[in-house]
Amino acid sequence: MKTISSPDATVVRELYLGGAWTAPSSSATIDVHSPSTEQYLGSVPEAQEADVDIAVAAARAAFEQRGGWSEWAPSQRADALDSLADELEKRKGEMARRVSAQNGMPVQVSAGLEGDFPIAVIRYIASQARLQETEQTHPHLLGGLTTVRREPLGVVAAIVPWNFPQVLSSFKYAPALAAGNTIVIKPSPETVLDSVLFAEAVDASTIPAGVVSVVPGGRELGAYLVAHPDVDKVAFTGSTAAGQQIAETCGRLLRPVTLELGGKSASIILDDADLNLAEIGQRLYTATLLNNGQTCFIGTRILAPRSRYDEIVELFAAFADSLPLGDALDETTLVGPLASARQRDRVEAFIAQGRAEGGKVVTGGKRPDRDTGWFLEPTVFAGLDNSAAVARQEIFGPVLTLIPYDGVDQAIAIANDSDYGLGGSVWTADEARGLDVARRVRTGTIGVNTYLPDPSSPFGGYKQSGIGRELGPDAIAAYQQQKSIYHLGV
Ligand code: NAD
Repeated sequence: MKTISSPDATVVRELYLGGAWTAPSSSATIDVHSPSTEQYLGSVPEAQEADVDIAVAAARAAFEQRGGWSEWAPSQRADALDSLADELEKRKGEMARRVSAQNGMPVQVSAGLEGDFPIAVIRYIASQARLQETEQTHPHLLGGLTTVRREPLGVVAAIVPWNFPQVLSSFKYAPALAAGNTIVIKPSPETVLDSVLFAEAVDASTIPAGVVSVVPGGRELGAYLVAHPDVDKVAFTGSTAAGQQIAETCGRLLRPVTLELGGKSASIILDDADLNLAEIGQRLYTATLLNNGQTCFIGTRILAPRSRYDEIVELFAAFADSLPLGDALDETTLVGPLASARQRDRVEAFIAQGRAEGGKVVTGGKRPDRDTGWFLEPTVFAGLDNSAAVARQEIFGPVLTLIPYDGVDQAIAIANDSDYGLGGSVWTADEARGLDVARRVRTGTIGVNTYLPDPSSPFGGYKQSGIGRELGPDAIAAYQQQKSIYHLGV
């Protein structure tokens, strides 16, 4: 039996490699602790290089098999993806709880984003796959015919972070599988128990054995997988620093790579914005503080018109104070703990730096009075400009910096004065004006009076926020190559 679940812990003994629960090659384990309670939650085997070799070999064999997965009609693969969505549907409540227990995401957030959202992604991608024709023939411009084929790339390596482990995996495996690739997924060590539940869903679906494997492990294992000679494409979400290392490897190997990296987005408040928290609070939370600030797209630089600066500082302090802080599994919680003690230390170091640079902490800035957990109060900085470290670097914690501006052009200039360009939002009483501003911000995604990624639209970053796009109608194309066959048609 692979899993021993008790109310106290989930202990997994085997790895899901090549469609079978397999004894790991070593006795090393990854132990997970709750960031809310610091209690032991469970463990999984830590995959080793030998296990990655097994997973990649199985993926290669499944890819090469005549009449197998890569040669199925797109609609057949779409059916298999839908069966995976059905299996995830059965497990979505447990999935959300496992993610929240491990990374501190409030369960009311994970229910939607880690439970429902991956299912929506899979079903959307499956519907797109059904629209695709593998081959299309048209007249050759110089006589005869050309048949253009869309072919899968081969074995895909997907490497995902801990902050939204399931949804960010789905951004990769859904289009990769729809295109006919096989895949090896490496989850982050912080979130491995949900990856076991995902593997169980794959196992119960009609996706054939070998097509999907899961190799829990750390960065060295990730680096090994990225450079593996039998991998054909890498899809990565994580920090910009790791993305740069992965890009270097892929550059050397001329291996296609999609990178979804960090962010430091701006929330631009226009002078006409009606900031009634009773009305916009939930949307503002998603746009600025979602998942305890551990969300790549949130707009943590709040740009406020100077004429309304003091009022907006006060409003954000009240907003931050109003968010219920508590155990991630408590359904009323909106601010849970940070994912690890290391992550909290990092965020605290940023807060100290903000203070040292002359910033005023108008609320938060300290640990709440609790016995356990890696909590930090939502923190609002005033009195800093866009050159401060807390305005330039990705903190990945609940820290907002309010920056004054004079005029819309300056607001846009400040928003664009960033190494990143992933998310952002504009708040205004006039949506047309908001859309005009949104068009001028150099970012991959942006909302007007709202922000929520849309499975049917591209998601990704400008500048150091990444290369390539996930989701949307072109998602599958990122996992395909095209072949032109010239023929006479006689
Ligand atoms: P991280 O880069 O340290 O790790 C992410 C994943 O990559 C983990 O699975 C890790 O084990 C692996 N990894 C790390 N270094 C590697 C290497 N050199 N080679 C191969 N694999 C490697 O990031 P993290 O701290 O776990 O996650 C937070 C980061 O993810 C933040 O910077 C955040 O902005 C980013 N993120 C980006 C998006 C997006 O879509 N752009 C979404 C979510 C998170």
